[in-house]
Formats: sequence, structure tokens, C-alpha cells
Amino acid sequence: MTAKKRIIFCDFDGTITVNDNIVAIMKHFRPEGWDKLVEQVVSKQISIRDGVGRMFALLPTSRKQEIVDYAIGNVQIRSGFAELLAYCEREQIHFLVTSGGIDFFVYPVLSAFPIPKEHIYCNGSDFSGPQIRIEWPHACDEHCDNDCGMCKTAIIRRYPADQYERILIGDSVTDFAGAKLVDTVFARAHLIDLCEELSLNYRPFETFHDVINHLEEMKAR
Ligand SMILES: [Mg+2]
Ligand SMILES: [Zn+2]
Repeated sequence: MTAKKRIIFCDFDGTITVNDNIVAIMKHFRPEGWDKLVEQVVSKQISIRDGVGRMFALLPTSRKQEIVDYAIGNVQIRSGFAELLAYCEREQIHFLVTSGGIDFFVYPVLSAFPIPKEHIYCNGSDFSGPQIRIEWPHACDEHCDNDCGMCKTAIIRRYPADQYERILIGDSVTDFAGAKLVDTVFARAHLIDLCEELSLNYRPFETFHDVINHLEEMKAR
């Protein structure tokens, strides 16, 4: 029996970054009706794809530069992220960013780190019309009816459980569906409640140093 290969699916907003960038953009530009949409997503009255698409459609593309600059300038990276990447490189852990965020802030922020672009999954954006239009290049497959937008479960399923030890790192609603599939969840914030509720195998974390320490412990077992 050969050992399973470890793979990490890591969320971006509120996980790699300290804050949720979509919420930060909306709070800063305050387009009419954005807060209702957030409420509806969190309470699951509308899907994540629907909510995020409708929120960005409230923003005029005439403010593109301001929005992009604000999003990138606002980002704070969670402590230990560079160290986690180095650890994964050393330990040959496959590291993917699976983000429900948008390309115009995800790629520029991650360009500071040695992550190949094809290991980053996020949503797209189109600024060619009057309002921002979000694109969904990684929408749900036939196994997921969650209308995720960026479907983490579709990506996770490409790495079968009999060959991979699957690890998810996340914090919130965009991680719920994926968390149910994997072997181990590193959770913070709202995702902790879900893991508790469903008795998933999880570890709370605050920094990526906590994650590295626990990955080491898991290896020793
Ligand atoms: Mg998140
Ligand atoms: Zn999905």
C-alpha cells in the first residue's frame, strides 16, 4: 500500500487574507441593496453565485480603477502564509487556492507568492459593460446542486479520496460544501460552527503557523 498524497484546498477571503474582500469592497462602496444580498446569502435564501453576481452588478464599471485599487490595497495576509507554502514545497504537499473571490484582486495579491497560476481557482470578471459582471469559469458540475459559483467540491472530486489525503482550509459559507468531503478541515470563524454541527474532523486555527504545527502532528501519527 502506498501512502496517499496530501493535497490542500485553501480558501482565499478571510483565510489567506485576514478580511473578506468582497464584504470589504461592498462596505466601502456601499451600493444600494448590497447588505440585503449578503444577509440572503448567509441565511441561504439565495445561492452564493446569485448573491455575489448581484452584488457586483450593483457597481458601475466607471469606478473600476478605484474598486481594484481599494481591493488590493485593503488586503492583509494572515500570518504564516509564506511559511505554509514553503512547508508544502518541502513536504511535497500539493497546494491549491480554491477561492470564491474574484480574479481582479485574487491574482494580483497572490502574485507576491510562489504559486503557479494554474493552482489558483477563482471567479472571473467582465468590466466591458456598464456594471461589473462576474464570470463563473469553475461552476458546479453534475454532482453539486449548491450553485456555488466557484465550486470547491467539483475541484476536490478531481482528487479521489482513495489516492489523496484531502485537507481543506477555510472560514465561511463558500467552504461548507467542500468541508463535508475532505479528510481534515482547518477552520476558523463561521466554518467552526458548521464543523461542530456536522461533527466533521476539524482543527480550529488562527494563523498558518497553527496549520503547519498540526500538519506535522498528523504526519507523526
Ligand atoms: Mg472565505
Ligand atoms: Zn458546487
